[in-house]
Amino acid sequence: MSRVCIQGLNIRFGGHEVIRHLDLDVQSGEFLVLLGPSGCGKSTLLHSIAGLNPISGGRILIGEQDMSQAEPSARGVGMVFQSYALYPHMSVHANLAFPLKMAGLPKAEIEARVKRAAAMLQLDALLQRRPAQLSGGQRQRVAIGRAVVREAGVLLLDEPLSNLDAKLRTELRRELKQLHARLGNTMIYVTHDQVEAMTLATRIVVMHEGAIQQIGTPAEVYERPRTLRVASFVGSPT
Ligand code: ADP
Ligand code: MG
Repeated sequence: MSRVCIQGLNIRFGGHEVIRHLDLDVQSGEFLVLLGPSGCGKSTLLHSIAGLNPISGGRILIGEQDMSQAEPSARGVGMVFQSYALYPHMSVHANLAFPLKMAGLPKAEIEARVKRAAAMLQLDALLQRRPAQLSGGQRQRVAIGRAVVREAGVLLLDEPLSNLDAKLRTELRRELKQLHARLGNTMIYVTHDQVEAMTLATRIVVMHEGAIQQIGTPAEVYERPRTLRVASFVGSPT
């Protein structure tokens, strides 16, 4: 149902080819991590699944449908960005409800969904606060909540923990795992942090310069890196 299939994807900015004929099959319900150094095209790939940048070639299927040209709101995905980008003048409740209001959902349904998301992300007691009255970790929980309220089959997360300190990162990693277990949805998670990839992923996609170097379970890419580049990036002893 919420499988994502990318076929022969090409993305060019000006003359620069950022994604090079990339094929990727994301299974329904898996926690897939896109891992690679800064500038290798992770965000560009994630944005193209969300419909936030045009593609130069290839196809993106979500579920069984070709969504290559579909509007972002029609794709059945939720997205969490690196910087939280919450609305500073709105309460936590209003921030969570906003995407659903925009989608024109009935009020009762909005309330029910905000309540479910707030419970899952431990935000119940914070619903009336403004973003300025929250800690960094709480803000990032709201940002994640804003994607979760869509109750989409696919959740896209772009380095959601990179602005947090190490202790909070560890805590939120654990929460993200619990969230995934509860939602059972498909997660596509971008990071340049090897530890994060190892602890979260069911499978890791190691990227380099717009192409896939290796796909495998954390153990596979760590113990049997296919290229020297994977070995040096993943940090295995090979
Ligand atoms: P990552 O997320 O892996 O750090 P990005 O996907 O952000 O990498 O960027 C990959 C490459 O594409 C970089 O060289 C970046 O400069 C370029 N790029 C990304 N977005 C744009 C854009 N809108 N216009 C031009 N170049 C872009
Ligand atoms: Mg990026």
